Amino acid sequence: MPPGSTLDELRDEAEAWIDANWDLDLTVAEWWERLGASGWGFPTWPTEWFGKGIDNDGLAAIDGAFRDKRALGAPGGLGQMMGGPVLMRHGSEDQQRRYLWPLASGLESWCQFFSEPGSGSDLASAQTRAVRDGDEWVVNGQKVWTSGAMTADRGMLVARVDMEAPKHAGLGYFIIEVDQPGIEVRPLKQMTGESHFNEVFFTDARVSDADLVGRAGDGWAAAVTTLAFERSGRAGVVGAGFKRDAEFRTRRSELRTAKLGDVVDQGSAGRTMTVDTRNPGIAGRLSPLALVNEPGHNRTDPIRQDVTRYYIQSRVNSMTMQRARAAAAAGKAAGPASSITKLARSIATRINRDVGPAILGAGGMLAGPDAPHGGAVAHATVQAPSTSIAGGTDEIQHNIIGERVLGLPREPQVDRDIPFRELKVGTVRNEPGGGKET
Ligand SMILES: Cc1cc2nc3c(=O)[nH]c(=O)nc-3n(C[C@H](O)[C@H](O)[C@H](O)COP(=O)(O)OP(=O)(O)OC[C@H]3O[C@@H](n4cnc5c(N)ncnc54)[C@H](O)[C@@H]3O)c2cc1C
Repeated sequence: MPPGSTLDELRDEAEAWIDANWDLDLTVAEWWERLGASGWGFPTWPTEWFGKGIDNDGLAAIDGAFRDKRALGAPGGLGQMMGGPVLMRHGSEDQQRRYLWPLASGLESWCQFFSEPGSGSDLASAQTRAVRDGDEWVVNGQKVWTSGAMTADRGMLVARVDMEAPKHAGLGYFIIEVDQPGIEVRPLKQMTGESHFNEVFFTDARVSDADLVGRAGDGWAAAVTTLAFERSGRAGVVGAGFKRDAEFRTRRSELRTAKLGDVVDQGSAGRTMTVDTRNPGIAGRLSPLALVNEPGHNRTDPIRQDVTRYYIQSRVNSMTMQRARAAAAAGKAAGPASSITKLARSIATRINRDVGPAILGAGGMLAGPDAPHGGAVAHATVQAPSTSIAGGTDEIQHNIIGERVLGLPREPQVDRDIPFRELKVGTVRNEPGGGKET
């Protein structure tokens, strides 16, 4: 929070700004530009980079102002949530100057090229290679599970730049343009029926050396920062929860040209506001608290106890997140607390998965627009496993907490100091003479 101001004053200030600027005749692009330039969209970012240098208590107050005024929040997505903050910590001034405004104003959306078929939990074993060629790097390999790659402008890419260094020391972290001949994006079908993620093939794709974040070989540090932001959900973005669906389905360029009045659904109780120009789909999260209070549904004692458990789990987790955010705002590195909040989200998601259908009864199994709440409950049930996997599985979070919080012995890592070329990784087998063949 700015020195000398209270949360109430901050909220009043944000509300006054919204009153003066919110206009349903603006396009989404015009609104995001206004919001980006004002500092209210990314208030935890520093004042020199489109923020207000406000802590996370302040962010919550400002978020409340946007919710109450039902004003569209800042552009969300992986670039805004992780890419911008990573550049502020690891990027060059030139990269900050080129990329922070396109992110803050919603001109660009980014995806995350980390996981590979043989490297998920063990991300440091990534085999996608980047080889220097003059002022550029040439990228070959395959990524998988890449959320939003089909609509992203750029991706945060982890690629191997040095085969002789041990696995953690031979990585580069690049910001790569997605729309180029060397990158092929193939959507994957999920059990929800949607296609949010993709497998992505790199064949002599090109990225400028100016887009290497940090030094070649230091990519692991930026990757770890990215994951810490991902796990803690430390978005720093106002109105972060409102529109992931829309952003996965709609090209940012299409969304940007729409008028606010045409795309902003003023929402109903218990649902977050959504924006989607093409496919209304499943919008927002349906809270069990809202559901259980609707007339006509099941409300037995066990159900009420589960709803209470969900509420307690969510509230305690939001406090842990606030503590983690306060630490980050005080300049401390994003640490293992992000793993605790990520695990707690998995637990809350599983309670939600079970209690939603219990409240609705048979209707909770129905999908599609004619189902109760547009099928949101059935959707949440089949979507639930993703929370325990995305951004690092529950088991990996347990390992991190065990080792770094509880001080338990580290997991044996026999390959940590061995040159990558000599390792057996994923589907790779070593060839005589030190080559690798997949
Ligand atoms: C919804 C969703 C969105 C995603 N989006 C992206 C994205 O945008 N970009 C991206 O790069 N990736 C993305 N991912 C991928 C995600 O990061 C990986 O799925 C995750 O890191 C696990 O890797 P894996 O699938 O290869 O599983 P594996 O690493 O093969 O793990 C398989 C099983 O083994 C367990 N295991 C592995 N290692 C250990 C260990 N050391 N100790 C104990 N247990 C272990 C795991 O917990 C798991 O149960 C997404 C995943 C999901 C579900």
